[in-house]
Amino acid sequence: MRTPLVAGNWKMHKTVGEALRLVDALLPLVAGVEGVEVAVAPPFTALHAVGQRLVGTPLRLAGQNMHWEAQGAYTGEVSAAMLAEAGCAYVILGHSERRQLFGETDAGVGRKVAAALAGGLTPVVCVGETLEERDRGAAFEVVERQIRGALGSLGPDVVDRVAVAYEPVWAIGTGRTATAAQAQEVHAFLRQVLGSLGGTERAGRVRLLYGGSVKPYNSAELLGQPDVDGALVGGASLEPETFASIVRFRV
Ligand code: PEP
Repeated sequence: MRTPLVAGNWKMHKTVGEALRLVDALLPLVAGVEGVEVAVAPPFTALHAVGQRLVGTPLRLAGQNMHWEAQGAYTGEVSAAMLAEAGCAYVILGHSERRQLFGETDAGVGRKVAAALAGGLTPVVCVGETLEERDRGAAFEVVERQIRGALGSLGPDVVDRVAVAYEPVWAIGTGRTATAAQAQEVHAFLRQVLGSLGGTERAGRVRLLYGGSVKPYNSAELLGQPDVDGALVGGASLEPETFASIVRFRV
């Protein structure tokens, strides 16, 4: 019922030339895959060129971040309209690196979600606890606060217009992955929280992606969980063969 979404977050990697070489290598590797939506999130500088290359292909484009204002004196920022014009269908919002390194707050993520939706983009809202929070038993409380902070003030209608990525901070770029059972437990909980915000029907339509050291060897088990509807992939999305094997997780 929910088509899985596998999205590659390239972070601050790849010049325009390198980005084009990566999508050119990736396109034939994922060409025949059915029943999975695939997206890539290059850095801002490469979005337009990659977006042009993806026209007429099933691969979708995503931004890694954006500002909530439509325009103005916000040096270094880009708007939803700018991303949409470059060809983006998605935008990653509230990634833990943005929260931890650049001071993003739940309220700020909420404003970005509203602006992204108004600009015709589908937000991929990231939530996830730190190791310290998990160790003291606060993982559920943290992800609930983050998801309510992002969506709580926007009304029930927005709930099924977003995707959510559960990315435990301790699993990002560490090679340490949540077990499939840990991922499923949090995803099921997130779906309940989404249900309380927008009703069970809407919550049942939301794609919940898992992120945190997803690799070809663990993707089938993670994505085989009933509430895991895709993956947000960092490091492993920079190599076309590796990313394509994750996209082909069912094979
Ligand atoms: C990410 O940053 O979204 C991520 C999941 O990274 P990695 O796959 O490298 O852990």
